Amino acid sequence: MPFVLSAWVMVKEGTMGNVTDKEWEAEIEDFPESVKAVARKYPANICWRSTEDPEFHYCIIDYARAKNKETGEEKITVTLAHSSGTRRAGIATFGQDPTQLIRCGCGKWKAPTQEDKKRQAIKLGEHRRKRQEALKDPLKIGDLVTLKGVDEPEYADMPLPVVRVESQGVHIWVGSEKDPIGPLFRHDLERYSGPV
Ligand SMILES: [Zn+2]
Repeated sequence: MPFVLSAWVMVKEGTMGNVTDKEWEAEIEDFPESVKAVARKYPANICWRSTEDPEFHYCIIDYARAKNKETGEEKITVTLAHSSGTRRAGIATFGQDPTQLIRCGCGKWKAPTQEDKKRQAIKLGEHRRKRQEALKDPLKIGDLVTLKGVDEPEYADMPLPVVRVESQGVHIWVGSEKDPIGPLFRHDLERYSGPV
């Protein structure tokens, strides 16, 4: 169940609102304790960067509780909205681990424009189409594949076995059981048909 923040935190005339720590505390008052702890450590009244790509510039737009299927452990995830003026403007990604975030606080995060959203919708449509196409040929563990849409030049054209499939669409791991490559999109994998 996501804990969605009021719009005033996120956007004030298209930029990050000037919300004090005290106001932030009031905003999260009704959150359950476990969510509140994360919301205090990773507040949404400042902007954030990512350890994964320094260009990413985020605003947290909600917090959610997720349960690990195997261990039953509770995990708090965040939804991150990319800033306008960056490559991924118009995208928000849910289920993200907040520990990947690095405090930025520059205040220059900008809400996505209509144009940003339109551009991403077109990309998403294309992505869905490719995915539907790929799903007609589902993969199972042991199938050999090559990576086609993935930037891993050392594995180019190398047949790799599928070692884990969590969902046919987006969570496929290949290579070795110990150190698998993934999660990968089904449409980034091509069934290998050459000699073994
Ligand atoms: Zn910033």
